[in-house]
Amino acid sequence: MNKEGHPTCSLCSKQCERVVFEKTGESHKTYFVYECLNCQIWLTHPIPSAEELSIFYSTGNYRAETGKRFIPILEKIINFLTVRKRNRIKSYVKKGSILDLGCGRGLFLNIMKQDGWKVIGQEFDEKSAIYANKNYEIDVWAGSLGGKFEEESFDVVNINHVLEHLEKPGEILEECNRILKKGGLLVVAVPNIDSLQSIFGKQNWFQLDIPLHLYHFSSKSLVKLLEKKLFRVDLNRHFKFEYNPFGWLQTMLNASGIRENYLYDLLKSSELKKKDRKTVLSIDGVKTFLLLPLYLPLSIMFSIIEAVLGKGGTIEVYSIKK
Ligand SMILES: [Zn+2]
Repeated sequence: MNKEGHPTCSLCSKQCERVVFEKTGESHKTYFVYECLNCQIWLTHPIPSAEELSIFYSTGNYRAETGKRFIPILEKIINFLTVRKRNRIKSYVKKGSILDLGCGRGLFLNIMKQDGWKVIGQEFDEKSAIYANKNYEIDVWAGSLGGKFEEESFDVVNINHVLEHLEKPGEILEECNRILKKGGLLVVAVPNIDSLQSIFGKQNWFQLDIPLHLYHFSSKSLVKLLEKKLFRVDLNRHFKFEYNPFGWLQTMLNASGIRENYLYDLLKSSELKKKDRKTVLSIDGVKTFLLLPLYLPLSIMFSIIEAVLGKGGTIEVYSIKK
């Protein structure tokens, strides 16, 4: 078993030796998930090369050139939930400037802009950045964050499902702290390895997403990291409607021996489906539709239970710059 040496945790610079599990991806390459006992986080090892990552991102779940990722009804739900998130942010900051790191197609920023906010986005994928620019007339740049802004430039910084993709998540949090005004708000959402769906699903957990996710946080470890980076954590949400019930559903389907993330692929917009030729009606489809009537109510129930227990599949943490 070649582990290519043990990885070093970028957050504490300690070597990690404990393997949580290994997983062989669609490319038949095996990845190991290590635990940093010091930070109580997991690391994917080896980290895919930049070339491998660009292939994963261009063919995978993350990009759609027309800006749509899902079928229309899901797009509507996502829109509704985004407006609710805006209202939550407004309970901290009435109006001001917001930076969205990894803003994708710009949907969230557009909703903030409509409310009179000064918005700016960052997106690594150039096509998504161009889409947001053109379609919503939002200022989005495709590149890294380091040193781009003056100190105390923003009232709010949002990092939605981005931190787990980064090689050095700690450095990004430091930079967020630097560019936020004193008392400014940082919103971070990540999958939670300490959730019931992660504990149940193990390698089958939908939100594990190896090898795209390089770091895997628990609620406790994220809060600890934010505090270390000089934030005061105010709110830790464990129920995210757009992630958690589906996380349960897809995890249970994965654990039932159906081709990994089959349903997710099916729900993606037609443009993304064209890219994913493997999604054809098959025995996996029959099994999925037989299991749905049972799994769907269970996923909603389990999401509520895990939220009540403080073990939600995705967490969204609101913290204030000290
Ligand atoms: Zn560590």
